Formats: sequence, C-alpha cells, structure tokens
Amino acid sequence: MQYFLDLALKTAQGYILTDAEQKTLLELPYQETYRLFPGAELLRRNFCADKIKICAITNAKSGRCSEDCAFCAQSAHHNTSISRYPLKAPGQMSLEGRNMASQGVTRFSLVTSGKGLEAEEVQQVCQVIRELASQGISPCASLGVLHKEQLQDLKDAGLNRYHHNLETAPGFFPSICTTHDYSQRTDTVRLARNTGLSVCSGAVFGLGESDVHVLELALVLKELAVDAVPVNFLVPIPGTPLENNDQLTPLRCLKIICILRYMLPRQEIIICGGRLENLGELHPLVFMAGASGLMTGNYLTRQGRGVAEDMQMITDLGLEPA
Ligand code: SF4
Repeated sequence: MQYFLDLALKTAQGYILTDAEQKTLLELPYQETYRLFPGAELLRRNFCADKIKICAITNAKSGRCSEDCAFCAQSAHHNTSISRYPLKAPGQMSLEGRNMASQGVTRFSLVTSGKGLEAEEVQQVCQVIRELASQGISPCASLGVLHKEQLQDLKDAGLNRYHHNLETAPGFFPSICTTHDYSQRTDTVRLARNTGLSVCSGAVFGLGESDVHVLELALVLKELAVDAVPVNFLVPIPGTPLENNDQLTPLRCLKIICILRYMLPRQEIIICGGRLENLGELHPLVFMAGASGLMTGNYLTRQGRGVAEDMQMITDLGLEPA
C-alpha cells in the first residue's frame, strides 16, 4: 500500500512513473486493486479537489453510421435494434439541455453518430450551442471527424469542449475497427486542441484489450494533453460482433480507473456508460479509484439513471457535485 501511496505523492509533485513502476502497477493482481486507492484518491484530491463534475448527453443523431466499430450499436454494419433518426431539431436539443441544467447539470453534450456532419448540420448544432451558452450551460459536442473551419465555427458559437474518443489503444484498434485508422482519431483530437477547444477523449474498456493496452492508451492521451478522459465499460449489445464479450469484473473496472489516474493525474476522469452494469455494488468506489466526474442520465442507446440518484450518491460519499 505504502509503495503506491509514495508513487502518488511523488506524482502529485510532477514525477512521471518509470517503466518499471508502470509495470508494477499493471502487474498488481485485481484482488489487490484496493492497494491503489489511497494514492489514486490523493491524486484526485490534489488536482480535482472533492468536486465531482457532472455531465449529460443527448444522442442528437442516431444510427446508420458508415463505420464498423465492433462494440457500437449505431454502426450500419451490425444488426441491432436501436432507434435510428436524423439530427434532432435544434429546439429539441436545446430543450433537453435546459432540462438537464434545471437538475443541476452544467455540462451538456450533443453527440451524433457517423464519421462526421454535413455543413448544414454543423450550423444547426452551432445554433443550439449559442442558445445553451447564452443560458450559462457549458456546451460540448461529439460530432466525429470535422474540418478546422467547422471546429472554428463551433468554437465561435460558444463551444467549450470537443469530445472525440480514441476508443482503445493504438495496438488494439485494428481488432475493433477496420473502416478508419487510429491516426484519424488522434488527428481530430489534435485539430480540436489546435482550434483552442478543451478536449475530452477516452475509450471503451472491456473490448478484449489487455491492461498493457490500457497503459498504452493512457500514454497516448498524455501525449495528446487531453483535458478530460471519459471511461466507458462495455455493455455487450446483441447484434454487434462483441455481443458475447464478458471480460470485465468490478475489480478490473476499478483497476482501469486507477491506472488512468496514476498515469493522468491532472486530467478529469469521467465515468460514463456501463458503470452501473459492470461495477454493480462497487459502483461508488469509482471515486476512491480516482474518478473525478460522472456522466449522468441516459447514454447513447441505453438508459442510465436519474440525475437526482447520482447527485445523492456523490453527497452521501462526502463529495460535492460541481
Ligand atoms: S463508435 Fe462512432 S464511428 Fe464507430 S460505429 Fe459507432 S457511431 Fe460510428
């Protein structure tokens, strides 16, 4: 226990773990994940205080995606039973954002399926962003691969943060997606950052990746200097190639969060889809493992739980929703 706490104390002062220390972290048996908690919590407190960031999303455009990401219910390559629809009307998206804000959620993201958006769709999203920003809501967007001019338009409209997941580690990505390269993902993250946007980029875990892949991903995110890391845990979707994947346990989920916190001490680590299904009774321990944020409400194609329940859990833990 003391070994990892000492590592965290040094990390809080700017120290970067050596290869040997990273290896020790990875090789810790899942049953001993709790040994990482004091250091992970120390780092969270040091860089994020006891404030837990809460965000919510809307699935603004659903399904019919040309890409073949193996975990995704929205890919046109898979036979899933989700509802599919074009971009929601701006008034509908704004209403959903205001509804979340009225429940205390300050960050609201518009998420669309597909590789990118048409010019006209980007302008509709800009309209929503202007309205949300004017009401004091921090708008985010996750719209796939965009051009620099489109990102600039979004920023000018008041976009605060762009989200673009890397999905997994570079070494595992070809097993998950064959229709585009990893470099397209990292290029989009860089472009958003170079446009002056805050960047949120993370992954889905439980796709079949190893803990070495988790570390590899963390190193890429560090190099990209992302601001926030959304952490999703796979809930296998019938009709996708990963429908029978069942590789996560609550302790593995917690260890993944710990690895990310030790490797990315300053970043927001936001626990998103699959948290309830995969962590079960251990779900509140995500904060001891270093998480500093939660996505609340519904997810893209599945129901989540109510904002009030998440807020209650956070305050019951002695933390504060930010
Ligand atoms: S993860 Fe995104 S790019 Fe991949 S299939 Fe789903 S919607 Fe398309």
